[in-house]
Amino acid sequence: GCLVKCSLFPCASAENDTKDTSPTIVLDHGDPTMYESYWRKMGHKCDITFSGDDSLSYFANGKSLCWFLESKLEEQITRLHNVVGNAIVDDHYIVVGTGSSQLVQAALYALSPSDQLEPISVVSATPFYSAYPDVTDFVRSGLHKWGGDAKTFEKYGPYIELITSPNNPDGVIREPIVNGDQGKLIFDLAYYWPQYTAITLPANHDVMLFTISKCTGHAGSRIGWALVKDKEVARKMTKFMEISTIGVSKEAQLRAAKILEVVSNSCLDFTLKNFFEYSQSLMTDRWQRLRQVVTDNDLFVIQNYPPQYCLFTKDLCESHPAFAWLISKGGEEEDCEKLLKEHKIQTRSGRRFGSDSRNVRISMLSRDEDFNIFLKRLMVIQGSTNRT
Ligand code: PMP
Repeated sequence: GCLVKCSLFPCASAENDTKDTSPTIVLDHGDPTMYESYWRKMGHKCDITFSGDDSLSYFANGKSLCWFLESKLEEQITRLHNVVGNAIVDDHYIVVGTGSSQLVQAALYALSPSDQLEPISVVSATPFYSAYPDVTDFVRSGLHKWGGDAKTFEKYGPYIELITSPNNPDGVIREPIVNGDQGKLIFDLAYYWPQYTAITLPANHDVMLFTISKCTGHAGSRIGWALVKDKEVARKMTKFMEISTIGVSKEAQLRAAKILEVVSNSCLDFTLKNFFEYSQSLMTDRWQRLRQVVTDNDLFVIQNYPPQYCLFTKDLCESHPAFAWLISKGGEEEDCEKLLKEHKIQTRSGRRFGSDSRNVRISMLSRDEDFNIFLKRLMVIQGSTNRT
């Protein structure tokens, strides 16, 4: 046991274990701070400057249907998808949003029929991303309403299905579930990047959402984009942005363009550290260590992901999702979030994802120090309970 523990936690010692007075580790949100060290090493390569007379206009310099989309950002989004091969950009309109969160709302607005008496049902298979019910119902729109689990949705007529692939919270690759012929589909591909999963083919759906938050870790810039095939849908989504925020910050767009440019460069220029190679090896390491601890303490079941051939890395790759989805081996009354909270690990209960309290979602994207403390604390749970 000790050998394993020592190699897992180079800085752990018996003394540290008993004197752990540090605060609760927050792994509830998927705050992608783990990429900070990569960006720090990139030094000034990502710097951009603004003068007082830059970007005053509401309007962008481009010719896009999305009139506030900066042409530099459009160019770098297209380039990165072509470098990575995870989505077809040709034949799609790009709509930029304040995070992909705003684009989920815009897509719901654009896909909801405006001539119906009843709001359209919005569904997603459990476990679904916990924000979807809130986003759908928050302002009690007459256009759409949350319809719950796509697996049990049987209402006849039009509906909108949200397909998150790889899925948040459980990392599973997903397909549409509802077997209806009047469905409008929104593919949320926030995690369809090589550090999380194999790129098996370029996605080519009617509405696809991406975000810089999970791709590069720049969640604070609040930049997401939609790739939309239908011109009318793209126009309506753009209208939604216009009404809610009259566009998206030019500073944020130009910074995002720079970051995406550097990521693409890092994939093509061997003198730079390839961002996806770096982040994939970090995720691989974290997942190996987590699996070791979960196997040792025998309290939880953890999802396995079949290796698939990745067209980007040109190798067989296992998935290393942004979240670990743990299922307790205990009885049905088990409350995993509570159990982990007692050990100063803050996670998000399965209940929030339409699942139950035997499940928890744990962010894998924290800084190294927090991840190490998390594993140390998870290991201790084995000692305090007596179930092996
Ligand atoms: N979709 C999914 C599946 C997500 O996990 C997230 C972030 N947690 C988002 C959308 C929203 O990301 P953002 O608004 O930061 O672009």
